[in-house]
Amino acid sequence: MKTEWLRREVREFAPYVVVPIHETHVINANENYANMLDIPSLRADVEAILRSYQPQIYPKPLADGLREALAEYLSVRPEQLLAGNGGDEMISYTLHTFLNEGDLVLVHAPTFDMYEVGASLLGAKVEKVPDLPGYRRDREGILAAIRERQPKMTFLCNPNNPTGELLPASFIEDCLRAAEGLVFVDEAYMEFAGAESVVPLIGTYPNLIVLRTLSKAFGLAGLRCGYIAADEAIIAEVAKVKNPYNLNSLTQAIAAAAVRRRDEILPVRDRIVAERDRMAGGLAAVPGVTVWPSRTNFLLIQVEPARADALFEAWRAADILVKRYQGNPLLPGAFRITITTPDVDEAVLRVLREVMGRA
Ligand SMILES: *Cc1c(COP(=O)(O)O)cnc(C)c1O
Repeated sequence: MKTEWLRREVREFAPYVVVPIHETHVINANENYANMLDIPSLRADVEAILRSYQPQIYPKPLADGLREALAEYLSVRPEQLLAGNGGDEMISYTLHTFLNEGDLVLVHAPTFDMYEVGASLLGAKVEKVPDLPGYRRDREGILAAIRERQPKMTFLCNPNNPTGELLPASFIEDCLRAAEGLVFVDEAYMEFAGAESVVPLIGTYPNLIVLRTLSKAFGLAGLRCGYIAADEAIIAEVAKVKNPYNLNSLTQAIAAAAVRRRDEILPVRDRIVAERDRMAGGLAAVPGVTVWPSRTNFLLIQVEPARADALFEAWRAADILVKRYQGNPLLPGAFRITITTPDVDEAVLRVLREVMGRA
């Protein structure tokens, strides 16, 4: 292949590295431990969907049934929603709808990679506001950057991946008022955080886009379903950019059933949150380990960077795969641990105590 065939932005891209997974306990991707199809009512829904399923027919381009279920869940109108093949796809579509080459995109750092990756692929310039010590977002810095630089798009991950920190809705409103451009709020973990969603603000701020997903609290990462909520004028433009049949009909039907069954699905979240807080205490009790407060289904911890390799390998030897941030200067010696069940957490702790206890 000739390198000249590639778009300039792609030429400069480092390949996306997917770690081969051999471990039994995979806690590196913030997946839900529960299989929601173990809920008899949802399983029955899925069986009924399969009995009348017509794979020869194209899916509904705007996922009408799913939009209605989501609209009811979020108390918005269906026209204020657009669903896709995971939140990642909706990030990509949104960037493709609004960014020209050279446009400025503002992010805080560290955060989810997809904003920067997607924006850079389109030739946008990405400016970062680093967190304050303790992985607290630099709220004044973010507001000042919005005011002075007026980015085309500002990304706020709330609560943030990988730090777990939650921003108050009042700060997001400050950003929305200060910004002449768009403010994209990624609420992938909001179900774990409680009642701070900014979805109710979409009627007030025409520059607000909120991302949600069924991959985390709903436990449907493999099904692939994410969605944005925004002013209907924004939804109409993103809908023009998306592939007509981006969300397959089976996912549309099962996702709608899951949203309707949320009262049976979401209680797992409460178990995860309680286990997270228990695990945070266990981790913090290990000498040499810093645990950052989290409002999500994961915990970010840090150890002395010189110990990080040994720790990661010891976890792997114990059949546990965690997320590490090798080479990221903002996350030295950091690991992100997805919270699942007490037995897995105990195994994680055993290894941590053993490695940190070595001379
Ligand atoms: C998991 C995640 C998403 C979306 O994931 P999908 O599986 O593509 O829906 C979006 N943002 C953040 C911060 C995430 O962690």
